[in-house]
Amino acid sequence: MEYCRKCLTKDMDWNDYFATMHQYIDQIDGELKTDAVTYQSRLSICSECERLLDAMCNACGCYVELRAAMKKNDCPYQKW
Ligand code: SF4
Repeated sequence: MEYCRKCLTKDMDWNDYFATMHQYIDQIDGELKTDAVTYQSRLSICSECERLLDAMCNACGCYVELRAAMKKNDCPYQKW
């Protein structure tokens, strides 16, 4: 897949952008990556959260699927 690595999201194709983000998540080093059970638990909490909007957390500005994928990260409101 070709994509511009210097583009802003406003200039990108959203399907390509999100495919790239999911590829990135898949390739995170196992030492750094959240285990699958914890990852699904985190996302399930985000899915029910009033601060989730268009896949982004409006408390921290992150895409929650990306934020939750890193073991070291936490929820800014201590929900996970
Ligand atoms: S990271 Fe926390 S505050 Fe943000 S959407 Fe998820 S549960 Fe809500």
